[in-house]
Formats: sequence, C-alpha cells, structure tokens
Amino acid sequence: MTQFSDLKLDPKVLKAIDEAGYTTPTPIQAQAIPHALEGRDVLGIAQTGTGKTASFTLPLITRLGRGRARARMPRSLVLAPTRELAAQVAENFDTYAKYTRLTKALLIGGVAFGEQDKLIDRGVDVLIATPGRLLDHFERGKLLLTGVEVMVVDEADRMLDMGFIPDIERIFGLTPFTRQTFFYSATMAPEIERITNTFLSNPARIEIARQATASETIAQELIELPATRRDGAAKLKREALRAIIKAEGDKIENAVIFCNRKVDVDILSKSLQKYKFDAAPIHGDLDQSVRTRPLEKFREGELRLLIASDVAARGLDVPSVSHVINYDLPSHPEDYVHRIGRTGRAGRSGKAISLMVPADQKYLDQIEALLQKPLPRGTAPDIATPTETPEAESERPRSRTRDRDRKPRAKPAPEAQAQIPAPVPAPVQAPVQAPVQATATPAAKPKAEAPQPEKAQLHQFEDAKAARGPRGAPTQGRNRPERGDNRNDQRGAVVGMGDHVPDFLMRQFRSA
Ligand code: AMP
Repeated sequence: MTQFSDLKLDPKVLKAIDEAGYTTPTPIQAQAIPHALEGRDVLGIAQTGTGKTASFTLPLITRLGRGRARARMPRSLVLAPTRELAAQVAENFDTYAKYTRLTKALLIGGVAFGEQDKLIDRGVDVLIATPGRLLDHFERGKLLLTGVEVMVVDEADRMLDMGFIPDIERIFGLTPFTRQTFFYSATMAPEIERITNTFLSNPARIEIARQATASETIAQELIELPATRRDGAAKLKREALRAIIKAEGDKIENAVIFCNRKVDVDILSKSLQKYKFDAAPIHGDLDQSVRTRPLEKFREGELRLLIASDVAARGLDVPSVSHVINYDLPSHPEDYVHRIGRTGRAGRSGKAISLMVPADQKYLDQIEALLQKPLPRGTAPDIATPTETPEAESERPRSRTRDRDRKPRAKPAPEAQAQIPAPVPAPVQAPVQAPVQATATPAAKPKAEAPQPEKAQLHQFEDAKAARGPRGAPTQGRNRPERGDNRNDQRGAVVGMGDHVPDFLMRQFRSA
C-alpha cells in the first residue's frame, strides 16, 4: 500500500500530515498526487469525503514551495462553489502548509473587500475564492490572473448546478494557458465534460468509486409516514422528527438535518428551537458572520442539531457526525449519497435516517436505483403520543379563518380520517362553528368590507391585523387578506411581500 512518504511531497508537508494524524493516503490521494507532482493536469471524479481536498492541496503546496508571490498576482487559484467550501479549503491549506511560508487569501462574499484587497496587494501564493467574488475583485482592477501557475476547480458539478459555469470559463480565459489544472467533480455531466475537454490538457483521469458503495459504516433507515392532507404533511414530519430525536436519545451526539428547501430550513429550525431542541440553521441567505456561527458551534460540539440545505452544507467538514437525518428525501439521488456521507466518516459508525411521505416515492425509487438496493425500513415513531406543548403548537399557527374556510371538522375527508395517525383533537366548538362559516363565506361576498381600492398595501396589512382581531374574534369576509394569518406567526402580511415583511411596513400611521 502506498504511504505518504512514497509520494514526493515536500518534507514540510509530510510533517504537517503526520501531525494531522493521517497515516495512509486515500485512493484519490495515492493516485492523483504523483501525476500532480509531475506537472500533469488532473481530472478527479470524486466527491466529498474521499480526501480530495488534500489530493490537490498537498501537491499544490509542494509545487509552490519554490518561488515568491508578486503583488496582486496570485500564483495559484482554487475555485469553490460556496463560501463554506472555500473556507474549508482554506482551513485545509492552513493545516498542511503550517511549516511553509506560503501565504493565502480567501475571497468570499460576506467579507469586506478592504481586508481582502490588502492581502492581495501584498501578494499571495494561494488565492481561494468563489467565482463571483473573484470576478468582482478582478473587475475592480485589484487582481491579475496572469501569474497563475496552478488552477483548481473544486466541485464543478455544484458549479454547474449553481450557474457558475460561464464564470469558470471566463476565469480560465484570464489565466495563462501554460497553467496546470486540477479539476474535480462528483459527476461528469455533458457540460462538465465539455469544459474539461476545452481547458484541460491531456489530464490524468482518476475516478473514485461512489461513496455509496464504500459507506458500509453507515446504518441507513427509511421511515415511511402515512398519507395526510397536503397541508398536514409538514406538521406530521415535524412531529415524526421530534419523536425520532427523542427515541434515538443520547445516541444522537450531533446530527445534520437536511431539508430540500431553504424556507423549510428556517421553519424546521424555529420549530425545533420552540420545542427546546438545541438546533440552528445554516443556509445561503444569511450574512456571512451569522451564517458561519452555527457551523462553527456545530464543529466545536456546542450545537447538537444543524439544519441545512444541500447547497449550504457543501463541504461541511465535521469529522464526527453521529446522525444524518433527511427531513426531506432529496430530489437528486446523488444528494442522498452526499448527505449521508457526512456521517460514518473515517471508519466511524454513523446513522442516516430518512423521512418519507407517499409523494416522495419517485425520489425513493431513484435513490434505491442508485444504491442498487432497497433502503432498510425503520419503524415509524409513535407520534400518537402528543409531543406538542400548547405553546409550541403555535409554531405553525392553525388559522381559525382557514379552518373555517375548509370543510367542517365534523366531516373530515375520509382519507384524512383514515390515514392521519395522530389527529390533533378538534376544538369542541369546531363542528358547530365550521359549517356556519363555511356557508357564510361564499366567494361572491360583496366587497363592502374589502379595503378601499385606492388605499395602499399598507392598509391591507392593517386590515389583516384588524381582521385577526383579538384571539378568537371572528373574522368577516373572504376579502380580508387571510393568507397573512396563515403564513406569518405574528406579523401578518402585505400582499405581494410573501413572508418577509420589512419592519417599516408594519408600523401604523395615519395619513393626514
Ligand atoms: P474531503 O474529501 O477532502 O472533504 O476530506 C474528507 C475528510 O477526510 C476530511 O475531514 C479530511 O481531513 C480527512 N482526510 C483527508 N485525507 C485523509 C487521510 N489520508 N487520512 C485520514 N483522513 C483524511
């Protein structure tokens, strides 16, 4: 078996690797490093968890050992699709280059330009960047890419998903054609193939088997939830998730919980917090400092549950994660493999639990086709035991208005009656109130109570607040903007603003 000492790496790098506790190179390292050190282009088809970062960082450091950086002219460039991934490459670089005098700069969004400019002005050996931010600096005239000797493109398939391919092509064009290129992608979509054919020169192609086939240390479990009414699925899933977390108990040292949509990352995280779980979200919309804080806490073992979207979790590099929970089954089967690969790393055991509702069947079929085996079925948690607290139940306010607009509770849809395992007891008054309201809110209700047409949206919001009235006060008329009631916990809504109503629109004022 190849040892690190067999690879012709700089002794300073070998010392740092030794301190990092690595004994033997991973397959991608053993195969890519010799080619990289010979000066060849490398095309690595491998995903997170295979040790790919070190497979390009170690030869990069070795190669840059000689020579000095010039102002504004980085000697190498590493492009990563997300801030988190770029930051992790930077961390890896710091670890492996600790005994060298090489310098680096990290160019990512959410960090002030000034600091980054200063570093580049001084001259850096390694510039690690997201494509958009790099081009921002370039366009501001702060950067020249004509001194780039080595260029790395990491997670090109993600770049493709995120629409960065035109940026990547442009950046390739700004670097000298004599550069050496390391290009990594988990999959080879035709667009990626095209880029590699255009910009790589006779690369050594190294393909590492899918993690799915290697992840014997991950115990997988699928929890099939029953059908509900469409609007009941999210609630049922949240209940099931809480029950699973409770059932797993102390076995969950820490868990990454994946949602498909960013909006659900927030909703789920707030819901778990209300139920006093130690949870926080990470997704791409937040300011950089806010965004990395939960990640740092999670890494330090100070946060137990990290709620994430696929994009935000790219490159999430926490060696010991006891559980991965798919709150949603991913729509791309490769994401399933990426997600569960966060646990069971480096020979440790891990558990991956996935929730599924009947509508997810097509996703399950794709995942099982990719894995070439069925996912082991787990037992659905006993969610008949109420896990709700009255206060917490308000996390997704059940709108009286909406309930009244629905069918009377006394006659629930047979499907819902038969299949919702843990029905929330209907309020006693519901069967009486509901039919009355159902007939009292015809679509053709006169517009008398509607906001005046010339009034601004602000007034619609005020109307929405008034319409809600004190708790339990009946709401009149369908023309009231009830959707605000349904979708916002406390704030109401302004038509067209979705859930994000700026504060200034919330203030009341009277026109003179
Ligand atoms: P990556 O695929 O680059 O995201 O790396 C996955 C994880 O494996 C990281 O936590 C690395 O620190 C770790 N790692 C990389 N190379 C080795 C190695 N040769 N031996 C043990 N762990 C490694």
